[in-house]
Amino acid sequence: MAASLRHLTWLLHHSLFSRLTPASARGPPPAIAAAMGEVVDPFGGSSYLLGMALRPILSVPHPMLKQVSTPVEAVDDELRALMDDMLETMYAAPGIGLAAVQVGVPRRVIVMDLAREDEPPAPRYFVNPEITWASEELAIREEGCLSVPEIYDEVERPAQVKLKYLNYRGEAVEEDAEGLLAVCIQHELDHLNGVLFIDHLSRLKRDRAIAKVKKAAKDAQAA
Ligand code: ZN
Repeated sequence: MAASLRHLTWLLHHSLFSRLTPASARGPPPAIAAAMGEVVDPFGGSSYLLGMALRPILSVPHPMLKQVSTPVEAVDDELRALMDDMLETMYAAPGIGLAAVQVGVPRRVIVMDLAREDEPPAPRYFVNPEITWASEELAIREEGCLSVPEIYDEVERPAQVKLKYLNYRGEAVEEDAEGLLAVCIQHELDHLNGVLFIDHLSRLKRDRAIAKVKKAAKDAQAA
């Protein structure tokens, strides 16, 4: 039991929330790298020339992250352009899930890619997602968040959920989720309701996390 929990934690630490580079990740361009407090720029800034529409990711304590996102009325080309931008931004960060509100657009849209490094990219899109059922069984997993960089902690959530949402083409989909997908969709759905994973932690841990992110952002600005 202890060993399998440790293994899960390792998995999450190393493959779930951005410790390892996802299959199709590219290095962040300089502006985003600076905002992230990192000095990684393997492409020498040339990603701009590839026409990638990267959007800055908001981090705590930005007030918009507490906002409840509004439902999408139609899955049209404008929305698909937003989802394309979100996916590029998520890959560049790199991360495995991103809610629109994290790039400053409070609409109920999530992008995700749970493919491992050795697998081809598998982008997923969730518009107006809803959890229609959640198991009583709970699972504890370590989580992280692109809006709370460099902070990781354990969160307890239902182990399985049933979902409904609209996909990239606007088709209604119903799906059962467990494991990584269940964790990730609940984490991202929280974002649409103005909730961050650190809101599931004690107040002390939450305040400490926010202080750490603020200090890192300040240090990055000063550097
Ligand atoms: Zn997040």
